[in-house]
Amino acid sequence: MSARILIIEDEAKFARFVEMELSYEGYSVSKASDGRDGLELLASDSFDLVLLDIMLPGLNGMEVLRRIRRSSSIPVIMLTARDSVMDKVAGLDHGADDYITKPFAIEELLARIRTTLRKNAAAPSQEVFSVGLLQLDPAKHMVTVNHKQVDLTKREFDLLQYLLENKGNVLSREALLENVWGFDFEGETNVVDVYIRFLRAKIDEVFGIKTIATVRGVGYVIRDEE
Ligand code: CA
Repeated sequence: MSARILIIEDEAKFARFVEMELSYEGYSVSKASDGRDGLELLASDSFDLVLLDIMLPGLNGMEVLRRIRRSSSIPVIMLTARDSVMDKVAGLDHGADDYITKPFAIEELLARIRTTLRKNAAAPSQEVFSVGLLQLDPAKHMVTVNHKQVDLTKREFDLLQYLLENKGNVLSREALLENVWGFDFEGETNVVDVYIRFLRAKIDEVFGIKTIATVRGVGYVIRDEE
């Protein structure tokens, strides 16, 4: 069965172009020209992936994403003409799965779609990871410290899970980018530092523990206490 993709994009010519290319690849495609239409379609029909333009009239893409995430974990790839680290961080922080900057080659979009669909099709791990008082349960998508729940964004959760999966190993920023973000962030490895800060603010500072250690000049590691 072909994957169903919803494009939320106000530029009609561009949306039509993407629709034609995706249909040609065998995807089943629906279009919405603004955020409200897109949210209505999502509520009334079932889709496998959303391509969401960030610059939309009325509700902007970021707000549409926020509303999608209130009720759904459907994979979302953001489309943007802008290209700054903070825009990417903001989108990913609000739960986007990936990002593509306009103008892009259609082959790149197709590759992103395939990767995102594949990642989301993979069964969640049954293992529960822990270090000290911290526990991460991938199946329940839950993190707790001393049985108190910690509210993390999708990207923070994925980063923490990857560090825990590799407990004891020092991971470089490049390795974290490649395995957590899943693509080359054009060398902007400071995104990793930004997310490590988010995690420390939500975990270490709140609970007075030390979870993620910095190894200067190398990267980050989670270690069991000695
Ligand atoms: Ca637009």
